[in-house]
Amino acid sequence: MNLRYATGQIEVICGSMFSGKTEELIRRLRRARIARQRIQVFKPGTDDRYEKEAVVSHAQDRFDAQMVKSSVELLRAVDDRTDVIGVDEVQFFDPGIIEVLDKLANRGKRVIVAGLDQDYLGRPFEPMPQIMAIAEYVTKTLAVCVRCGEPANRSQRLIATDDRVLVGAGEAYEPRCRRCFEPDLARQLDIGLMDMNGVLESSRPRDAVDAADSRSTDGETR
Ligand code: ZN
Repeated sequence: MNLRYATGQIEVICGSMFSGKTEELIRRLRRARIARQRIQVFKPGTDDRYEKEAVVSHAQDRFDAQMVKSSVELLRAVDDRTDVIGVDEVQFFDPGIIEVLDKLANRGKRVIVAGLDQDYLGRPFEPMPQIMAIAEYVTKTLAVCVRCGEPANRSQRLIATDDRVLVGAGEAYEPRCRRCFEPDLARQLDIGLMDMNGVLESSRPRDAVDAADSRSTDGETR
């Protein structure tokens, strides 16, 4: 990565869980510190794993960080003199983060963000796609599939729940490759909900028919 960035830039580090995103973020921040850059690191308030005031990797690597509740709070907390801004778990921020990161890069800041690119069903995890689109650099980190040992880019959820976010539940996931990934495993509850919706859906046309019948009855009485 180029260490000159007078014009400002956005760097994205993304991948599945256990792929070393935070480690890579910390590595880049350390290099910036060696280069005597002024650094500020942020993380969203929802992530209370490990310690509150630091970005910590699974390997217990750490870098001091400030917790912020929203993209607006992040923007307000940035010091004008800061050269490098690091953000971990960026996928947990509100959609306003896209504009905030763009604004900071436009002010000449080097902005480095790390986050999950896909959710537990393998769907793009907003706002990551939008941030990747406006970034100068995108690095995809890969984990190792626990099933077959191939490079893994999916986060396999091991418990049945349809919550998109399971904070502090690292043991509920394992990295898997495209071939070994089983979204249906985590979808069991979703399927239950879909069946319920199916019942609701089949009752809906009946309501519509009833409504149409009453309308035609009205027509006849007129
Ligand atoms: Zn595999």
